[in-house]
Amino acid sequence: MFREELIAILKQRPTSLHELALLLDVKPRELENEPRHLFRSLRADPMCPVIDPASCRRCGFLFDGYKLHMPGKCPRCKGTWISDPLISLTEKR
Ligand SMILES: [Zn+2]
Repeated sequence: MFREELIAILKQRPTSLHELALLLDVKPRELENEPRHLFRSLRADPMCPVIDPASCRRCGFLFDGYKLHMPGKCPRCKGTWISDPLISLTEKR
């Protein structure tokens, strides 16, 4: 599949699910499970996947780190200005 491409992109910089979908020319829905598979398959690899959780840009609230979807609004301030969760790869120490 596009796993190789996905890894190549993630190695360069943190990328959101939507951005990845655009870069790989697939629907975000098709990618939803892919990072999870990726995470599993990378377990023995020197690269380790990391998710920067979505956060509210108004009050700084941090969302659940393993949700790859951008939440609709902030549960604390009800703000809708929310940053995308970012997926990245880092080298294991
Ligand atoms: Zn907020």
